Order: sequence, then C-alpha cells, then structure tokens
Amino acid sequence: MAPLADFPRRLAVLGSTGSIGRQTLDVVRAYPDHFVVVALAARGNVALLAEQAREFSPQLVAVTGQDDETRRQVAALLPGALAGIEGLIAAATHADVDIVVAATSGLIGLRPTLAAIAAGKTIALANKETLVMAGHLVTAAARRAGVEIRPVDSEHNAIWQCLRGERSSSVRRLLITASGGPLRSLSLERMRDVTPEQALAHPTWRMGPKVTIDSATLMNKGLEVIEAHWLFDLPFEKIAVVVQPQSIIHSMVEFVDDSIKAQASLPSMHLPIQDALSFPERLERAGTALARPLRWAEVAHLEFADVDQERFPCLRLAYAAGRRGGTAPAVLVGADERAVPLFLAGTIRLTEIAEVLEQVLATHAFVAEPDLDQVVAAGAWARDEVSRLCGQPVETV
Ligand code: MG
Repeated sequence: MAPLADFPRRLAVLGSTGSIGRQTLDVVRAYPDHFVVVALAARGNVALLAEQAREFSPQLVAVTGQDDETRRQVAALLPGALAGIEGLIAAATHADVDIVVAATSGLIGLRPTLAAIAAGKTIALANKETLVMAGHLVTAAARRAGVEIRPVDSEHNAIWQCLRGERSSSVRRLLITASGGPLRSLSLERMRDVTPEQALAHPTWRMGPKVTIDSATLMNKGLEVIEAHWLFDLPFEKIAVVVQPQSIIHSMVEFVDDSIKAQASLPSMHLPIQDALSFPERLERAGTALARPLRWAEVAHLEFADVDQERFPCLRLAYAAGRRGGTAPAVLVGADERAVPLFLAGTIRLTEIAEVLEQVLATHAFVAEPDLDQVVAAGAWARDEVSRLCGQPVETV
C-alpha cells in the first residue's frame, strides 16, 4: 500500500507503556509507512520503554516517575531520558510532532495535553480525565488554537464516526454503550462482597486495572458521559447509556428523524486508535496482524438493556457531577483515582467506592469556574480526602 499524501504522521505517545500506548505502537508497527514515532513518554516501566525506544528510535524519551528505583533504572537503561512533568510536556510539544496520543492515566495528562494544544498539535485523546476534569479549559483552548481533539476512547470514537457528514442540529441524543462489566447481573447485596479478582475479570475488554474496576462500577461509563458532553458539545439530557454486553456496538447516535447510526466491530482498541491517527483516511486492515473483521453470522445475538442506577451509583454520581460542572468532576476523578487502589488493596469494599465519592463530593469547596490550578488542586484535595476518610496515610504525588 502506497503511503497517502499527508503521511507519514509523526507521533508523540504519552503513556507508551500502558494499554493504549502499547496498542498505539502496534498500529505504528502495522503501518510503518504511515506513522513515525517522534517521542515516547511513560511513568515507571523503564524496561519496556527502553525496549520501545530501541525499536522505534524516537528523538525524545521521557520518564515521569521520580522514585529512586525508577531513577536507577533510567540511569542504567535510558540515560538520555528527560524526567518529570517537564519531560512529558517536552514530548507533547516537540516541534516535529503532528499528533499527540494522550494516553497517560489519571491527572498527569492534563498539563501536557494543554501544552500540546497551545503548540497546535492534533490530539488523539485517550486520557478521559483530561476532558472530564477540565473540559471547559481544554475545549476553549482547542477552539482558540484551531486544534482538533480526536477521540480514541472506543465509545467516543464510534460516535465521532457516526457523526461524520451530519449536522449537530440533527442529533437527538447519543447512546453510549456499556458492556455492563463483570458485575452486570449481580444483586446489590452480593455487590458488597465482590473481590478485586472478580471485579478485574472483564468479560469483553482487556484493559489496565484502574479502568477495569471503573468498568465494574460503571464509573468509567460515567466519566465517558462527561467526556462526551465536552467532545460533542451536547447537554447531559442528550447523552444516554445503554448496556450492550457483547461489546459489538461501540455506541450510537439517534437523529431527530428517528434514524439511529451505530458503529460496530469486534472489540479491539486498535481500530479506534488507528481511526484517530489516520482520519480522514481509512487504512486497509487485511494483511495486518491487528484484528479480524466482524462477521455478523458469528454474532449469535445482540442484547440491549437499561442501566440500573441503584446498583451502579457511580453512574448517577457522574451525571450529577457533570451537570454541576465547575470543580465537581475533578473531585470525582481525584477521589476515584484514590478509592480504586484502596479497593484493590482490600482496604475498602467495592460498594464503598461510591460511598466515599459521594461523601467527598458533598464536602468539597465548590468552585464554579475553576482555572487549571484550581482544577488540579480540587483533584488532589479529593484524593487526599479519600485517604483520610479511609484511615490511610496521605500520599505526596
Ligand atoms: Mg471506553
């Protein structure tokens, strides 16, 4: 396949050793004429980052982890690597980069993404916290800079595909699909005794532990509702969640004439990543090792169901935080970022995640129009507040 006129596209991959980062590099590997890696950044998996650096020969490598062990490994394996948030920002703003794949997890991606937008980079956004916490700042900055934010999250990428060629005034509502996670049909009582192992056993998607637990509680879906609100500039009444356990329909758009468009494929993050990187071109997948096509005859049946917000209170909390706006979503993200590891460590029950989030949301000092520092401070406060509520030492991050 001959490279297209505006290829190769030059990438910075922030979070290259995480699940999305590794799959982004799979896409680069499958289309060497289309994509070039200019910068790689990761937190603490120095061994894998060094391997990636050997394979893709980026111009810049950054490691954000600052602990002694990480520093030791960097000195041994990647002596030229930049350190800390400054390294991440340098990767995001490198002069040779066309597209920044923002795939770090949690709060750390916020400043580098804003820096990339200010530098005029196209953003392939996989880090949902960025839009959830600071959607008002990020979308305003993108508008100012004339920068496009392309969704990598499978649901939002599906919606983005369904919206192509449509007018926003034609949209009645977005239907974000949810697999329902491993606890989809569990009763509220049994939900209390769910172990980390059970919650980590996602039926259809292989992902990192934080997002897998967020999928089990439907917090992930709640964050995706807020993300969709900012990405597609629609009010929360126009964003619905539909359970689709097979993860074949990745989301849908319902139009004012009752027509519904759905995007379907076998569950694989390679496709939305590839779409965000290659748009408006679609790249031929036959002959690559990335996936196989969906055959409808192999899909025995497709189910759809409404979400029970009684059993999944995190979804209700996310809608409420999204509607309230201001610092509320940042508090939700910060609190969840701390509560999930406490569940994984056996300190709190799964059902206590929503309880502590609700408590922290109720007590925080709300700011209606926060600037970036206030957003970050609200998230950090929430994280510490969860630690205090759960009798844990407050971490310095
Ligand atoms: Mg998703």
